[in-house]
Amino acid sequence: MATTHNLGFPRIGAQRELKFAQEGFWKGQLPERELQQTGQRLRAQNWQAQQKLDLAPVGDFSFYDQVLDTSFTLGHVPARVSNLAGSELDNYFRIARGRSNNDSDCQCVHAGEMTKWFDTNYHYIVPEFSADDTFTLNPDRLLAQLAEARQQNVNTKPVIIGPITYLWLGKSKDNSNRLALLNKLLPVYSELLQVLAEQGVEWVQIDEPALVTELGTDWQHAVNLAYHTLKSAPVKLLLATYFGELADNLKLTCELPVAGIHIDAISAPAEVNKVVDWLPSHKVLSLGIINGRNIWKTDLNATLNWLAPIADKLSERLWLAPSCSLLHVPVDINAETTLDPEVKSWLAFALQKLDELQVIASAINHGRPSVANELADNARAIAARRQSPRVHNNAVRTKVAGITRELGERQSAYSVRAQKQRARFNLPTYPTTTIGSFPQTLDIRKARRQFKNGELKQDEYLTQMQAEIKRSVREQETLGLDVLVHGEAERNDMVEYFGEQLDGYVFSRFGWVQSYGSRCVKPPILFGDISRPNAMTVEWIQYAQSLTDKPLKGMLTGPVTILNWSFVRDDQPRSETCQQLALAIRDEVQDLEKAGVGIIQIDEAALREGLPLRKSQWKNYLDWAVECFRISANGVADETQIHTHMCYSEFNDIIESIAHMDADVITIETSRSDMELLDAFDDFNYPNDIGPGVYDIHSPNIPSQEHIIHLMSKARERIPAERLWINPDCGLKTRQWEEVLPALQNMVSAAKRLRASA
Ligand code: GLN
Ligand code: ZN
Repeated sequence: MATTHNLGFPRIGAQRELKFAQEGFWKGQLPERELQQTGQRLRAQNWQAQQKLDLAPVGDFSFYDQVLDTSFTLGHVPARVSNLAGSELDNYFRIARGRSNNDSDCQCVHAGEMTKWFDTNYHYIVPEFSADDTFTLNPDRLLAQLAEARQQNVNTKPVIIGPITYLWLGKSKDNSNRLALLNKLLPVYSELLQVLAEQGVEWVQIDEPALVTELGTDWQHAVNLAYHTLKSAPVKLLLATYFGELADNLKLTCELPVAGIHIDAISAPAEVNKVVDWLPSHKVLSLGIINGRNIWKTDLNATLNWLAPIADKLSERLWLAPSCSLLHVPVDINAETTLDPEVKSWLAFALQKLDELQVIASAINHGRPSVANELADNARAIAARRQSPRVHNNAVRTKVAGITRELGERQSAYSVRAQKQRARFNLPTYPTTTIGSFPQTLDIRKARRQFKNGELKQDEYLTQMQAEIKRSVREQETLGLDVLVHGEAERNDMVEYFGEQLDGYVFSRFGWVQSYGSRCVKPPILFGDISRPNAMTVEWIQYAQSLTDKPLKGMLTGPVTILNWSFVRDDQPRSETCQQLALAIRDEVQDLEKAGVGIIQIDEAALREGLPLRKSQWKNYLDWAVECFRISANGVADETQIHTHMCYSEFNDIIESIAHMDADVITIETSRSDMELLDAFDDFNYPNDIGPGVYDIHSPNIPSQEHIIHLMSKARERIPAERLWINPDCGLKTRQWEEVLPALQNMVSAAKRLRASA
């Protein structure tokens, strides 16, 4: 009999209950007791949903982030909160977000840094390490949840983040080697496992996803040391890896003295048989057979075909689970009452994925006839999707097949283009511009919502949006900016806006996935071949251009960013889907050009996010991603100026690829890091124009002229003045007009002073 289990369940709630409770608590509108009750209710619901499993996870629930929870469990909390008043939860939120609910003024601290959890769009709070850090066990949260689960008669399996991954995820604050802390950390893990054993726990899932990355020998030694130390713990350890292949860590992982390992059979199918061969015969092998990262139904029959011989071989030693925690998918497809029924019949969210797991386990344990109906239904859905004319569009396929190198090439080199563009636009040195969006006021949001719900007629909506465009153009003219934008009032989201106008997309209403804390995203679902029935932005931009003599910058989202921020189809390589998106954006770029728009910005905010976990695979990704950008951007005349924008500051390791995008101008986020990013330009001679951000749009602070001049002078040390632009870090949609106007005024004045002193 194969055992079924789950690695983690979405904690935000099908209706985002956790989000609303968290935010209520932070605003001081909800007492802590009620926040705790919401947590308890969600956990109870989640365990209820997982009741059919042989083992359900405990400890996967979190009020903010599971890595921050681990820091508290290990008694490893930054010293800056140690003397502050309030409860442990207050300190927890202080590290998470800089403040708790009742911190008026003096209790604020700087929040922990946040970064992406492996290659997902989930962000965790980075543990902070120093050489003299200590650890002490604080198991209360975990024990309380264990007791709750037991009351519900759940077969429990506590889930913790392993010591190696915990260290790996953190950052040293004093340049010490964080691996040196392992000796102090392991006793706390031993103690924790001891405490769990005393509670009668049999299995503990210990997550070590760091094992799918390139570790190097010192980390590999540490893995060995850690698990040889924990081997004496009186519980069985299921060491869980996910998100990729073990590769050079495979043998090491198989040989660790643990009772079982979990591997991700979805992202590393080729390793399954190797692990089956390597794994000593007394160990359990848990196979992640249902994709925990996307929203498509599993082909259950195909899965059973490859799984059956392995099940025969492993028998009782086989465990079955989703590939990773279901944190990365929405909760319930059945909540979607307005979704296109055909596409809906191809989808599975977290609850449906657990049903799929159950069907597979039944087929393995009791034979396929025991679930004949379920398997037949599934086969029909899989076949329907495969054959659907909605998915396949021959015209798109022909266009993709016709892609050539030339499609990605500009007519002339940058130096030639730059001259022609200079003659056309006649911009001053240090030209000023913004990144696209202006503040999204309540009125704008309301108008968009009413239009979407049919409460506002097309022409009324148009009038309101045009009034907003007029306002932002007027403001920009008054400020004296050099290249204007229309302000993006009509866009709710930079990906959804385009997805809604492309064929091949659908949108869920409740398909929320936690991004960090209370923040959720609802990725659009890309299910079929992508085409663009109509121009998507031309009328808005044309209208804005009609209001001014200054050059207006058209604003698009690039193919790689659209891809990386969507749930995408799994029936073809991502690169192919990206090519389709690139062709659609290319058509839009050319339509803008035909409409007389001389400057076009194609945002690639998420290009870096798509990087594979293993550096050895970066090149392949960057090659096709950059080529797709080039296809979208480069079908224009020399006189048309292409901009791109990226908002992150780790740039150094991909600078050559970014240069290869060959945008005439790139605007990037730099202000917070004091232009640190420009270090990349010490060793690499970036050839084109660049606008390093001088206004941190994540903060309500207004940068002074002096500060802007200071930043630009630093930029000037690396890049000649004639190739520098002056702009904010990113779009201004989350800010207020009252902040934006003085900030931009300072920016324009700083530019004038810089020009005068040149
Ligand atoms: N053009 C977009 C805006 O200004 C860019 C947003 C982003 O980079 N995330 O809002
Ligand atoms: Zn940005």
